[in-house]
Amino acid sequence: MKITIDEDRCCGAGQCVLEAPDVFDQRAEDGVVVLLDAAPPAELHEASRSAEQLCPTAAIEISE
Ligand code: SF4
Repeated sequence: MKITIDEDRCCGAGQCVLEAPDVFDQRAEDGVVVLLDAAPPAELHEASRSAEQLCPTAAIEISE
């Protein structure tokens, strides 16, 4: 699994952080997403995919 994020699309909604806090964080100053793990281990794949689907601005992209 490979995760990429588009900071320009992120609106700071924080859904990804709630869903997968080991993979995503938010910048303190403006809430924009920070990718903690671009290639998470298998046990985090399900939560990462949920975050991708829940993101309201499609700022998260996952490829295999
Ligand atoms: S869910 Fe999407 S819009 Fe919200 S913080 Fe995460 S990447 Fe940004």
